[in-house]
Amino acid sequence: MDFVKFENVSLTYTEDGPLAIDGISIDVRENEFVAVVGPSGCGKSTLMKLVSGLREPSNGYVYLNGHQVGGPQKCIGMAFQASNLLPWRTTLQNVMLPLEIVEPYRSSLRREHARYEEQARALLARVGLVGYEDKFPWELSGGMQQRASICRALIHKPRLLMLDEPFGALDAFTREELWCLLQDLWIDQPFTVILVTHDLREAVFLADTVYVMSKRPGKIILKKPIELSRPRTLDATYTEAFASDVHVLREQIGRVRQS
Ligand code: ADP
Repeated sequence: MDFVKFENVSLTYTEDGPLAIDGISIDVRENEFVAVVGPSGCGKSTLMKLVSGLREPSNGYVYLNGHQVGGPQKCIGMAFQASNLLPWRTTLQNVMLPLEIVEPYRSSLRREHARYEEQARALLARVGLVGYEDKFPWELSGGMQQRASICRALIHKPRLLMLDEPFGALDAFTREELWCLLQDLWIDQPFTVILVTHDLREAVFLADTVYVMSKRPGKIILKKPIELSRPRTLDATYTEAFASDVHVLREQIGRVRQS
């Protein structure tokens, strides 16, 4: 069964306003890694808002886990380009934040605090942040902040992880390190991912399927399965197969930018 399904979805932000997205249909299988690429303003973030229930479609339907989305969803974790860590909380306290909000963790947090803290520490260790648990966000590098932000998005074991340009502000080396880390986390304990990105190499490296969107109003103009074997390595990004997939996406984006 599809875990996320867009059925002919259109959205205008204001009554009588222009369409932001137009007739989008996307099916995402459980534990599939999907990337959405397209020019700025094509509606990639709008797709995120529709899945998380922050917006309702003007037309069409959005389903999550077989149910029509109608309000905020708790089985989702999210991370953005800015890490959005709370500056007055330590790394560990930031990572544990969703447990104070999302059920069933919220009700059992006081009783199970030690166990949940152990899980948060283990996740921080998994992403290489041992020794930084008690530091504040301003004491971390940009890459470390994004690692912590991914931990915060995953601490409540969401079935869907939504990532909006999560590595966009990082230098190329850190970005590629975090591609590998995200792939490892996903292979260890699979969850469904929707990644919005401008970076075509990032999309090909991480995704099972890449959707290319047109300029506003955003439509899906290409669905491209990525058949490269896993786990993918940075060396694989220099192969012909990898370059050829990136090239197919680049051609489509080039076409929509000129149109
Ligand atoms: P992307 O993430 O691909 O850059 P968005 O989903 O943010 O694109 O935006 C799609 C279109 O909808 C853009 O033209 C943008 O200006 C418009 N838009 C986004 N949010 C709002 C809003 N809150 N009110 C009005 N228009 C919006």
